[in-house]
Amino acid sequence: MPTHEIVLSVVVPLYNEDAVIAQFHASLRAVLDGLDLSHEIIYSNDGSVDATLARLKDIAGRDTTVRVLSLSRNFGKEIATTAAMHVAKGQAVLMLDADGQHPVERIPEFVERWQAGSQVVVGVRQGNKHDSWFKKTSSKLFYRVFNIFSKSELVPGTTDFCLVDKVVVQDFVRLQERNRITRGLIDWLGYEHDYIYFTAN
Ligand code: UDP
Ligand code: MG
Repeated sequence: MPTHEIVLSVVVPLYNEDAVIAQFHASLRAVLDGLDLSHEIIYSNDGSVDATLARLKDIAGRDTTVRVLSLSRNFGKEIATTAAMHVAKGQAVLMLDADGQHPVERIPEFVERWQAGSQVVVGVRQGNKHDSWFKKTSSKLFYRVFNIFSKSELVPGTTDFCLVDKVVVQDFVRLQERNRITRGLIDWLGYEHDYIYFTAN
């Protein structure tokens, strides 16, 4: 493999995240430095009306692995993510939210599972430290009942904290749906799935 080839693209949609982007980037940077594989970060600015774009340009000026996409208006996270998938160069693409709800320190596990052969690695949220007993219990019950009656197993808590192999990206970018849910479309495409369980911050 040529050394300039990008192994991992990290895709992040952002809408009005100027308060958190610097901190988010610093923590992502630290994790990627620890991974030692060639990578790019694609920040997809979804028509933010705060200083997100200016901050992203500033970050990109100091970090050559960063590319900034900027949509002409707010299209919603699914479109912002999809636009970035179209330009991602990596052998794998990992997407996550900028607001800290998807823990960056778990990224190495997504990469390991992919290197072990999984084409889709999905983060599964195991609830929030602050969730009530009622919320936890009713949510468990919902999935238990659903899975008794449904042929396809629904994995509770799947999120958009997700890594997909390039073969999946190539299929994904051919889909023409305008009204899209990234997670649903990736499920629909098939491929070998694996799951990483995390607790939301
Ligand atoms: N986001 C976006 N466009 C939008 C709304 C959100 O790109 O119109 C981004 C947001 O900046 C964040 C991610 O999508 O990085 C998830 O957004 P949010 O935390 O609001 O969603 P939730 O936590 O409710 O899933
Ligand atoms: Mg959020």
